[in-house]
Amino acid sequence: MMSRSQGETADREFPLAELLSPDAYPLAGRSAGGQKTLIELKGASLGDGGFTLIAGPCAVESYEQYSETAHLIIKHGLKLMRGGAFKPRTSPYSFDGLRQEGLDIIARVKKETSVLSVTELMSTEDIGAVVPVADIVQVGSRNMQNFPLLRAVGGIGKPVLLKRGFGNTLRELLMAAEYIMKAGNPQVILCERGIRTFDSSQRNTLDVMAVPILQSTTHLPVILDPSHSVGTPRFIPAAIRAALAVGADGVIVEIHPHPEEALSDGAQSLSPDEFSAMMNDIGALARALDRRLS
Ligand code: PEP
Ligand code: MN
Repeated sequence: MMSRSQGETADREFPLAELLSPDAYPLAGRSAGGQKTLIELKGASLGDGGFTLIAGPCAVESYEQYSETAHLIIKHGLKLMRGGAFKPRTSPYSFDGLRQEGLDIIARVKKETSVLSVTELMSTEDIGAVVPVADIVQVGSRNMQNFPLLRAVGGIGKPVLLKRGFGNTLRELLMAAEYIMKAGNPQVILCERGIRTFDSSQRNTLDVMAVPILQSTTHLPVILDPSHSVGTPRFIPAAIRAALAVGADGVIVEIHPHPEEALSDGAQSLSPDEFSAMMNDIGALARALDRRLS
């Protein structure tokens, strides 16, 4: 008789064993029975078994827009607010963020409300400006393998939200996390935000299976971005239900007080009514799954 290691089970597990063995990641790898990484902020957490929603506009556009969105988030009992002052745009003619003015708006709204900020850092040059106003620093899809930037955020002492490149494997995502951790920062959150496939029915194809596969390999929290993947408000609630059901630690979702006026990603941003409907919609599922929303 064949032993288990020679038989079918071993063969069927070959790709995972080869590419996603926790042993391949000295810092990000999850040892058997090991603890998950818990990200704790003032009044918010990620990775504690709850389902954490990060919501907000794609870009900070004005004080009024950012402040109005902050109040919407607070009304729904959320704490973590997204919004970029530095925006990576495909076209150099598109609005690419208010930069320092945007950071000043984030700082002002944080002072006036209780929201915490998740905002993107695109370049090592801007570390000194971005990091002081950020509670979580986002490294975007296009920068997932910007190794100098990864090393630099290894030294900031704040959690990093690392988004999967739209053309990158999960192994490459984990190795990018490993760069940040090796440079001294253990607080990394992984984000699946859709990958490029032949199918254009979603903006990017949401790889829901990234969640359980990553969670079996790493102790880091894993969240999904339904906005940049699915790309249309119509299917975003379904993607968030999938995130909840598959065991993601949370989601990051784009909302805008007036999506039709948004300077970036308005087409995929939930309006206030769509956001409220989505929150009601997932509330019942979260209760059924015994997962606390925050
Ligand atoms: C964003 O979060 O607005 C963004 C640009 O995301 P990504 O890097 O995943 O494209
Ligand atoms: Mn966006």
